Amino acid sequence: MGAFRRCLRCDVDAVSRCGRCDAALCRRHQPRAGGRCRACERDYHDDALARNRMKAVLGLPPAAVTTAAVLAIMLPFAAGFGAAVAIAASAAIAGSGIAGLLFRAVDRAARAQFLREHGRPLPTARVVRLLPRG
Ligand SMILES: [Zn+2]
Ligand SMILES: [Zn+2]
Repeated sequence: MGAFRRCLRCDVDAVSRCGRCDAALCRRHQPRAGGRCRACERDYHDDALARNRMKAVLGLPPAAVTTAAVLAIMLPFAAGFGAAVAIAASAAIAGSGIAGLLFRAVDRAARAQFLREHGRPLPTARVVRLLPRG
């Protein structure tokens, strides 16, 4: 959870609730359509690092494979240096296009999952005193 705290009006003059953490929110703090309260949105943004790692894992190998495949398929047809450069460029474009597609897919999936989440996260674990033995 971040620094955002609901204001007094959130409690006394709530117009909506966060669809994720169920916090009552005033008009000023009500989430925009397709969004969640600021605390939840902050959680989502805090996860960006993990998402970026996932993008690298998911997106870069196919991008490299695509680039290599386009090169391998097209290069035999390259007649001269100019054609080779053009083919290398289109291979790079194809590769980054694939990566971009996958990156957007990861973002969409993460956002959809975030919006599906509902209810407060589990309460933080507490140490409870164990019953004395014997
Ligand atoms: Zn408020
Ligand atoms: Zn929330």
